Amino acid sequence: MTHSYHLRSKEIAEIHTCLIIGSGPAGYTAAIYAARANLKPVLYEGMQPGGQLTTTTEVENFPGYPTGVTGTALMNDMRSQAERLGADIRSGYATAVDFSDELKLVEIGGETVIAAKAVIIATGATAKYLGLASEQKFRGMGVSACAVCDGFFYRKQTVAVVGGGDTAAEDATYLAGLAQKVYLIVRKKHLRASKAMQHKVANTPNIEILFEHEVQEVLGDEQGVSGLRLIKEGREVYTINVTGLFLAIGHHPNTKIFADELDLDETGYIITKPGSSHTNCEGVFACGDVQDPVYRQAITAAASGCIAALDVERYLC
Ligand code: NDP
Repeated sequence: MTHSYHLRSKEIAEIHTCLIIGSGPAGYTAAIYAARANLKPVLYEGMQPGGQLTTTTEVENFPGYPTGVTGTALMNDMRSQAERLGADIRSGYATAVDFSDELKLVEIGGETVIAAKAVIIATGATAKYLGLASEQKFRGMGVSACAVCDGFFYRKQTVAVVGGGDTAAEDATYLAGLAQKVYLIVRKKHLRASKAMQHKVANTPNIEILFEHEVQEVLGDEQGVSGLRLIKEGREVYTINVTGLFLAIGHHPNTKIFADELDLDETGYIITKPGSSHTNCEGVFACGDVQDPVYRQAITAAASGCIAALDVERYLC
C-alpha cells in the first residue's frame, strides 16, 4: 500500500514540527541544521541506516578528512552530531504518506501515523539489477549489488563487476584487493568513470576489462554462481568462470510511496524547484539522491540537506 487516503482515518500518534525521512548525508545534515534551529526534528532512519555510504569503503573526497574516512564512520559521526544537537533519531521506515493537508501525515512501519508541519524527504536511491531471471535466482548466492558488503566472501576467487561508471570502477579495484581476478564487464567501448578511477582500474593488474560485453545469463547450481554467459559485440557468445557477480549499474530513487503525492521526473526522481528543496507540495521538501540524478555525491547530498532544513525554517516562520 503506497497511499494515503486511509491515513486520515487512522489515529495520529504524534505531532511534530519537522519530520525527516531517511538517514544518509542529506537526512543527517538536515537534522543537524533543523536541531540547531530549534525545530526539534524527528528522523526515521529507514531500511538502511546511514544510507548508501555505509556500503562504501574509503571516502577520500569528503572535505575535512585529510586521510580519508570509511563511509560507516562518516555516517556515524553525522548521526552523533545530529543527536548531540537534539535530533530525535529513530529506527523505522515510512510506508505511506498523505500530504494533502497542511498537517502532513507519514505512516511508519505500516502502523503508526506521525504528523508534522513540515516533512523533509531524504530517502536516497537503491541499486539497480540487470533484470535477468538467473540474476534474481542467485541473489545472495553469488550475485550482489554491494562489493563492500560481500567482497570478503570471494577472497582469492574470480569475480565479475558489471558497469562502466565510478561505482563499477571503485568496486572492481576494491574487489581486486581481495579476489584473485576481477572481470569488469562494460557494455560500451569506453568507461564512463572519472579519469582518476579509469587510471586506477588500468593500473590494477588483476582487473580485465571486457568492453562491449553484456551478461546474458548467470550460471550456477545449488552451491551458487559458477559462471556467466556473456555476449560480445552483440554476436559472440561465450562463458567465463566466476563465483561472484557484482552489479554496479546505477541506482533508482526511493520514491514509490511519494508517487501519488509529489511530482517525479520520468525516472522517478522527486522534482524540486530549482535552487531549493521545495517540492510541488507546500511543506514537503526533498534533498539528497532522491532528487539528484546528476551529482549524487555525499557532499552534495549533505549540502542539499542543509538547504532543506533552511527552507523548512523559512517555511515555518
Ligand atoms: P552511473 O549511472 O554513473 O553508471 C552506471 C554504469 O552502468 C554505466 O557505465 C552504464 O553504462 C552501466 N549500465 C547501466 N545499465 C546497465 C545495464 N543494464 N547493463 C550493463 N551496464 C549498464 O552510476 P554509478 O553508480 O557508477 O555512479 C553514480 C554517480 O555517483 C556518478 O555521478 C558517479 O560519478 C558518482 N560516484 C562517485 C564516486 C566518487 O566520487 N568516489 C564513487 C561512486 C559513484 P553506459 O555508460 O553504457 O550508460
